[in-house]
Amino acid sequence: MRHPFVFIYLIGVLVAWVTRIVQTKDHHKVRTTRILWPELSLMVLWFIASQVLPLIYYFTPIFKFANYSMPNFVSVIGVGVFGLAIWLLWRSHVDLGQNWSPIAEIQTQQVLVTQGVYRYLRHPMYSAHILWGVAQGMLIANWLVGSGGIITFTLLYWVRVPKEEALMQARFGQHYASYKQTTGAVIPKLL
Ligand code: SAH
Repeated sequence: MRHPFVFIYLIGVLVAWVTRIVQTKDHHKVRTTRILWPELSLMVLWFIASQVLPLIYYFTPIFKFANYSMPNFVSVIGVGVFGLAIWLLWRSHVDLGQNWSPIAEIQTQQVLVTQGVYRYLRHPMYSAHILWGVAQGMLIANWLVGSGGIITFTLLYWVRVPKEEALMQARFGQHYASYKQTTGAVIPKLL
């Protein structure tokens, strides 16, 4: 096999997709907001950087110029990081249930979830995507293909989270403000 760790990365991407599809198949869409261009284009860029480029990298030599060598133990740790990312993605889907949406919006039936992983983190799904991006860098020893996921997701996070938190604040008021005080955004808050 040409790149065993890249192969593992691609399997991880597949597992993440299955997790998401299984968890969102009963999702009833009641859209109240329209998606804005910066958010949508960054979602597309993240998809390309985290999934399309690694596939091209695995099957063709065109990104070979950006390869470097990475110690095996780093990639072995990367497998664990990706496993953690998938677990967190699955857990946050279970806890968020029907309140999940692919974009930042408030739905008509929305409730504020403060249980499960949401007890510690306001954005566990985004933490999962950050871990996914870190794993991509640890499993793909190529500065172009390895770094694309974390860079594009960080940009998406900057665009999306202030908007999402403002919407949640407007909808849940004091309840959200006090929830914010006891939780971290993507890393649990230490007392
Ligand atoms: N940012 C969260 C959720 C991502 S899904 C995470 O990373 O886990 C995006 C949708 O989830 C948004 O449209 C928002 O309205 C909703 N949402 C975010 N936090 C929520 C919470 N604590 N309870 C209910 N809905 C939430």
